[in-house]
Amino acid sequence: MEASVKKFAEEKLTKYLEINNLRKTAERYAILEEIYSNSGHFTIESMYENIMKNNYRVSTGTLYNNMRLFVKLGLVVKHVFKGNKSQYENAHNTVKHDHLVCTECGRMEEFPYTEVQETLNDISSKRGFTMENHILYLHGICRECKIKAEKKNSDKTKKTN
Ligand SMILES: [Zn+2]
Ligand SMILES: [Zn+2]
Repeated sequence: MEASVKKFAEEKLTKYLEINNLRKTAERYAILEEIYSNSGHFTIESMYENIMKNNYRVSTGTLYNNMRLFVKLGLVVKHVFKGNKSQYENAHNTVKHDHLVCTECGRMEEFPYTEVQETLNDISSKRGFTMENHILYLHGICRECKIKAEKKNSDKTKKTN
């Protein structure tokens, strides 16, 4: 990941901590650094393991608190997919893709941001808005669930005939 992206995230955090008179602990920055070194989806548990592997000691409570703060600041995106543990990813990562989420089985599929980029840019610029990042979910029925449902229906009609 480009250094400028990490720097942008750090500056955003610093600004918030200063405005709200919160302590600029090394822990917070270490967690943010770890998140921004990770390019995929992760859970709190896997993040905790990574941080421990890097010989950095933080409690899970500290990790949860900071994740909540990062989500609030738009630095981290939290995904809640049906039947799965909450997944997270750094906000810069989500800029590159969006999500199709199945409301039946909870399966999550990603598609490239380039497919919707133009539309979102148009919406923003028309309103004089400067988009830093975005989160887009398409909720619905995935291909597999649709096939399953169609099969069930055709089985039913066969039986009644
Ligand atoms: Zn994602
Ligand atoms: Zn499904």
